[in-house]
Amino acid sequence: MEKKQFQLNDIVEMKKQHPCGTNAWKIIRMGADIRIKCEGCQHSVMIPRKEFEKKMKKLLVQADAE
Ligand SMILES: [Zn+2]
Repeated sequence: MEKKQFQLNDIVEMKKQHPCGTNAWKIIRMGADIRIKCEGCQHSVMIPRKEFEKKMKKLLVQADAE
């Protein structure tokens, strides 16, 4: 099974799309809770890391690791 990896500024797809019709979220804060921002309407939500890992579907755009 593929392990989910993500880091700050990555764009991820969730299992459920946002009501605005977009399913691309940018990780804008990492911690015990993860804050993600909808790329469509800029709405942001904070969810516990465990829940995020469960709800995240895949990584869409990996942030530059410079
Ligand atoms: Zn949205």
